Amino acid sequence: NADTAMYFAKSAGRNNLQIFTEELDDAAARKNRMEDALRLGIANGEFELFYQPQVSLQNHTVTGVEALIRWNSATLGVVLPLEFIPLAEETGLIVAIGEWALKTACNDAIKIQRMVDHPVTMAVNLSPRQFEQDNLSQRIELILAESGLAPSLLEIELTENMLVSDTSDALAILNRIRNLGVRLSIDDFGTGFSSMSYIVKFAIDRLKIDRSFISASVNDLSCRTVTKAIIGLARDLKIEVVAEGVEDEEQRAFLARLGCDDGQGYLFSRPRTIAELPATLRGLEEKAARHRLGGLPKA
Ligand code: C2E
Ligand code: MG
Ligand code: MG
Ligand code: MG
Repeated sequence: NADTAMYFAKSAGRNNLQIFTEELDDAAARKNRMEDALRLGIANGEFELFYQPQVSLQNHTVTGVEALIRWNSATLGVVLPLEFIPLAEETGLIVAIGEWALKTACNDAIKIQRMVDHPVTMAVNLSPRQFEQDNLSQRIELILAESGLAPSLLEIELTENMLVSDTSDALAILNRIRNLGVRLSIDDFGTGFSSMSYIVKFAIDRLKIDRSFISASVNDLSCRTVTKAIIGLARDLKIEVVAEGVEDEEQRAFLARLGCDDGQGYLFSRPRTIAELPATLRGLEEKAARHRLGGLPKA
């Protein structure tokens, strides 16, 4: 009878299976919705870049800013980069978004030079998918020329895994970018496939120590050891090193003592809009001036 049939269906896990496929459908539907929203977002210009200052741990001046993308979707509301960047990469939409980000960042970098009385580097994150365009270096060259930004003020952030995969092509493209005079840095250093030989081979300018090591380095001995080792390595190789996610004075002092060049994190500033940046940079430079005059304690 019907009751027994129901019982067997349940015990065979039919209901579980059904719930499972519904969840899969949900996930797929959510992904489709976000992909549609991304396309719309590109067409409607819904993206914005925020800029987070990088500060010298030695003399406290602002040495650079990192461009971080923000998306306020008309249909989905605010979506975090960690949610939409992976889908943008999967669908290839990151190529258009990344090109927009490079252009916007270079144009804003010109404005930022006028806010501070010394050069400030503009760091832009590059997705592995953007490396699949073989004319990437020409596109960067064109963007630099159109914005009028000196190539030495642009820094491209790569991840370690990008250097390992597909080596010969990646090497050729990176060399062309380097030959433009653009700087290269390795983001989230310590979390991916680290190979010292790649750092030398690609003539990397800067390592960015991943936030996870910095946040744990005050309490966790092994994280502290990794942080020390990365700073030591960078110094020996004459590569600059910047710490990500510096949130408190204890972390800053620890990094400064080890000889880490720069820091980036909420201690100095959250990512800011271009409109907010003049006040933020002025505040940071005033602090640096007070340090120079001996008004604030050194590390
Ligand atoms: P990332 O390049 O490692 O960027 C640093 C992330 O750490 C940013 O997250 C930043 O807001 C956050 N952060 C900075 N200081 C602190 C701190 O003191 N404490 C904490 N808890 N977090 C801090 P965000 O902006 O959410 O970006 C996440 C990731 O998305 C970036 O990691 C980057 O991989 C990617 N991304 C952002 N913008 C772009 C872009 O224009 N293109 C590409 N391809 N990826 C981007
Ligand atoms: Mg980055
Ligand atoms: Mg990073
Ligand atoms: Mg990171």
